[in-house]
Amino acid sequence: MSRTTVATIHLGALRHNLALIQRTAAPSRVMAVVKADAYGHGLERVARALDGQAEAFAVAALGDGLRLRAAGHRQRIAVLSGPDQPGDIAEMQRLDLDAVIHHEAQLAWLAEASPRRGRLRVWIKVDSGMHRLGFAPERVAAVHAQLAAMPGIDPQIGLLTHFAESEVFGGTVTRAQIERFNAATAGLDGPRSLANSAGLLGWPEARADWVRTGGLLYGLSVVDGKSGGDFGYRPAMTLSTRLIAINRIRAGERLGYNGTWTCPEDMPVGVAAIGYGDGYPRSAVAGTPVLVGDRRVPLVGRVSMDLITLDLREAPAARVGDRVTLWGPELPVEAVAAQAGTISYDLTCGMTRRVLFVED
Ligand code: PLP
Repeated sequence: MSRTTVATIHLGALRHNLALIQRTAAPSRVMAVVKADAYGHGLERVARALDGQAEAFAVAALGDGLRLRAAGHRQRIAVLSGPDQPGDIAEMQRLDLDAVIHHEAQLAWLAEASPRRGRLRVWIKVDSGMHRLGFAPERVAAVHAQLAAMPGIDPQIGLLTHFAESEVFGGTVTRAQIERFNAATAGLDGPRSLANSAGLLGWPEARADWVRTGGLLYGLSVVDGKSGGDFGYRPAMTLSTRLIAINRIRAGERLGYNGTWTCPEDMPVGVAAIGYGDGYPRSAVAGTPVLVGDRRVPLVGRVSMDLITLDLREAPAARVGDRVTLWGPELPVEAVAAQAGTISYDLTCGMTRRVLFVED
């Protein structure tokens, strides 16, 4: 593990973001989505920071539910695509986790397992158009009836769907998904949940009973050209390292692997101790912004496993040992993601074990 490359998790930002989500969503309730190790911020750390504040968590897998229960969290926890196998049902009941069922096989497992001790809470996932997980709209009423007839299932059966591009505010795809979901669930009893982060921001009519927000909790946005800060959310991660060399490179010399960048003049090139081995995206192109101290400078040359190179012409006072910030409150991760052909979530999720995590 490197002592130089550090991901600082801002617990105050997490709390601020959840409070803002809750105020925006009210009277809808909020599931704090902490899947994928809380989008790379650390599951236990994030859950601990939000424990007194979060009403419910959502995770992708049963194992994450187990980790949250082992850490002592008592909130509702929805497993967004579980159970994955028949044996999971008893475990979910033991851990008091909400199941989200999306496939006929799971319905058969439930019928077979007929959970008896207590009642298992179940959500039906509706495929309203994303075509990833979910029952076809025309199956939903029958699935609901089938579950309602199972004695071990909590009679409050939830109805849930997921948006494919809610970040396109006003777009026809999400509009059609909302309409399909509403039609498929009309007349059925039970709580409803449609909106993710962008759904919360751009589709007030989709807030329903529960919103399921991940990105905004971490101050992240997937809305084109916008960072979480543009909506009042605070980045919960700063990724930083140090400058470990400054070299003067001659005009015409090519930098790094495959010489993808050529020095236009004699110039100072900084080398920072981070690379794709830490989770910094290898796909980041020349021009990707990086902070050296408080100066914004462009990345140049190819990202290596352990190192990146920086054009220091605009930072003449830079010295070896200076702090280098890859993203954080002063440099939105969305700006880096845009230069790397990906989204902010992908970057925060991608930190490797070599990165030292600290909290403030
Ligand atoms: N609900 C489901 C089913 C998801 O898969 C996700 C994340 O991909 C979310 C909610 C949270 O989405 P976001 O992080 O955009 O708020």
